[in-house]
Amino acid sequence: MISQRSIDTIFATTRIDEVVDDFVRLKKRGINLIGLCPFHDEKTPSFTVSPTRNIFKCFGCGKGGNSVSFLMEHEGFSYPEALRYLARKYSIELEETQVSEEYQEQRQERESLLIINEFARDFFVKQLHETDTGKSIGLSYLKERGLILKTIQAFELGYIGSDRDALTAASVGAGYNIELLRKLGLTTSSDRDFFFERIIFPIHDLSGKVVAFAGRQLKSNKKSPKYINSKESEVYNKSRVLYGLHLAKKSIRKEDRCILVEGYTDVLGLVQSGIENVVASSGTALTVDQIKLIKRYTNNIQILYDGDPAGIKAALRGIDLILEQDLNIELVLLPEDEDPDSYLKAVGVTAFRTYLSEQAKDFILFKTGLILDEAGDDPVKKSSLIKDIIESLAHIPDPIKRSVYTKQCSSLLSVDEDILISETNKEISRRMRNQRIDKLREARSDHEILRQQVGQQAAKTQTYEIDPPTVTDEYQERDIARILILHGNQVIEKDPKEVTAAEYILSNIQETLTAFDNPLYAKVVSEYGRQIEQGRKVDANYFVNHENQELAQLAVEFCASPYEYSENWEKMWDVYLQTQPKPEENVVNDSYQALLRFTLRKLQKMSDENLAKIKECQRTNDQGELIKHLQVQQILIQKRNEVADKLNTVIL
Ligand SMILES: [Zn+2]
Repeated sequence: MISQRSIDTIFATTRIDEVVDDFVRLKKRGINLIGLCPFHDEKTPSFTVSPTRNIFKCFGCGKGGNSVSFLMEHEGFSYPEALRYLARKYSIELEETQVSEEYQEQRQERESLLIINEFARDFFVKQLHETDTGKSIGLSYLKERGLILKTIQAFELGYIGSDRDALTAASVGAGYNIELLRKLGLTTSSDRDFFFERIIFPIHDLSGKVVAFAGRQLKSNKKSPKYINSKESEVYNKSRVLYGLHLAKKSIRKEDRCILVEGYTDVLGLVQSGIENVVASSGTALTVDQIKLIKRYTNNIQILYDGDPAGIKAALRGIDLILEQDLNIELVLLPEDEDPDSYLKAVGVTAFRTYLSEQAKDFILFKTGLILDEAGDDPVKKSSLIKDIIESLAHIPDPIKRSVYTKQCSSLLSVDEDILISETNKEISRRMRNQRIDKLREARSDHEILRQQVGQQAAKTQTYEIDPPTVTDEYQERDIARILILHGNQVIEKDPKEVTAAEYILSNIQETLTAFDNPLYAKVVSEYGRQIEQGRKVDANYFVNHENQELAQLAVEFCASPYEYSENWEKMWDVYLQTQPKPEENVVNDSYQALLRFTLRKLQKMSDENLAKIKECQRTNDQGELIKHLQVQQILIQKRNEVADKLNTVIL
């Protein structure tokens, strides 16, 4: 693991404006920089970078964070990958600390797998360019298909001949573990090469590392498929990879559109003709993870299909997933018997581009037209198809877009628009209900975990049981989290000894931690407590730079929040940062009040719940329990009154 000292150095050195500037065009505005948000579609910039705070914040879509979270979001890096990127950018040497053996083994294995893939790629490339069969069979095949050397090299294409031991023998000879070769699927269980007599297409991850291979057959052989792929491994999850994305991402962002094709050679052909914003889903039906990859760069997808109706129908099923991600999808149907590569070759790039822009049809309308043709006059078929369309409509999150489509579909299908709207609404509420149930289940289990974590401490201080609260106290909890993050270090009492706002709040709050409704705010409290216990000083930056992205996001919100609803927020934010001392000055009162309000709410809730138990005991005539609960009630009311009194004094 990267040592805390290295992480601290990275955060101290990194400048958010320099990091973002590599990806987003920024303009100076006051003490901040602004640009068009890379995370949502916008015409006027609301994406702001604050060099003073070292954070970014988009006031359009709400995304915000530090350099690390920017890279994680924008480049799809993991936390350590983002740190390594920054270390490289700023030439910081990384110290690695001891990690658990298991983790280290896992990481070492992952790295070894990637190294072996690199070795295999180089081997295949060498076979293509430097052996006689490679040149006469492999290279000449690729050139026949119209590929030039530059493209072949850019995509690192390779070749493997008929010798069924070539790669395995070379790898083992170079000292690589055959067990790992098997894990990657390069070597079969009978220790022979998996790929032979094939053109090899390396499959890369976002950062350009080779994670797998696809092999295309050269001789037509009915016994084995035209394409075979590496099996999934520690480094390759086929539903999370898009072929060609590592080269296409820049162009996708620039063109604000991603073209999706089916085959590897389609990608190569289009890129070679100068259409670079193209990727392939490489042998899988489109998955949500792949769509999310695309969404990092654009909201517009254009899918090219060869004109095979069965294939199109199968592919359309996956597209509801894209709708849900709020992407704009256009479909282009290619002329019969043409694939993107062959059609491009037949008509040339200019005509190809014109065809794409003229033939592109919006997905819903495309689907409606297609199934309408299929249903003909059959009323039973037609009604089931209408259900199908309603399901697609219900997947569109943007209500304005949805209503436009509903109108168009109603006229295409000759169905009354009101009926279509009400059926779609039913479908939406059915889905929302299901989502709510899932969320509730999740929240319950979060709450359980929290209870277990702090339960031991609570058990020491409390003699009565606290049930999970039913009404939420988000506001009070958020206030506590806000004061801790922004002002926790401020000294609020000097006599008899110095007490910071955080110490004051934490010492009073521990026993109610189990009663937090919002697990994120509870996490702020427990994380703060943990750091203080270890003698560390915690400030807003600590949370802004936190590894947990939810915590970091919350901290950024607090840092930018005083004016988050102001239309003229940017100017206000500048003013706030430069001249506004008020929130800090008020910390003492703020802390006392927030804590008292919080405690009052919790006590009130406990007493309500206890009261319900008293009533239950009265109903069942359980005298022993009744007396216990009555005593508890007395204590609760007494405490509540004390707090209410204090709150009045403080307020006055
Ligand atoms: Zn945004």
